[in-house]
Amino acid sequence: MVGFASDRKPSVGVLALQGDYAAHKAALLEAGAEVVEVRSGEDLAKVRAMVIPGGESTVMASLMERFAFLEEFRRRILSGMPVFGTCAGLILLAARVEKWNRPSLAVLDIDLRRNAYGTQVDSFRARLKTKIPGIPEIEAVFIRAPKILSCGPGIEILAFHDGAPVLVRQGSILGASFHPELVPGALIHRWFLDSF
Ligand code: GLN
Repeated sequence: MVGFASDRKPSVGVLALQGDYAAHKAALLEAGAEVVEVRSGEDLAKVRAMVIPGGESTVMASLMERFAFLEEFRRRILSGMPVFGTCAGLILLAARVEKWNRPSLAVLDIDLRRNAYGTQVDSFRARLKTKIPGIPEIEAVFIRAPKILSCGPGIEILAFHDGAPVLVRQGSILGASFHPELVPGALIHRWFLDSF
């Protein structure tokens, strides 16, 4: 094994500029990871995988630019670093976002529409069937969620809601339009950690 002693927990970063990163941190700790809050390129250099929380995608994109690590983050993802983006995090990962022309990570081959499930008061919970081995069903919380409008050929769809993909994977890039960090059990976080 290169770089990590076998008894060492994987060091996973949570983008901690804005949004509900504390809930992701708690889920990752519950799932057995060592967690680093990432706010700079220096923090990013310490981790072997990243989680991008829900929150405000526009604010997170601007802050990553201002703190000068957007490009480096993108380069790490393209060279294989596992990343899991949820809700606003999925928006930052998407290659194409309707009416949203701004610098972002743009690494996941999907077309997306922001706020497509309505406003905060339209938030809802749903039980979803998944194609993840050992996790037949999950509970999902949708809050001002983005909608995946179409997926490129390299995208694996792991869950649908009402006919639309809501959990997708492209190699080591995982994205959810909902909030898995807001339900107990950290099931998806455990599975994400097991994938690398
Ligand atoms: N609507 C938010 C955005 O566009 C995402 C909402 C969320 O992360 N819960 O960034």
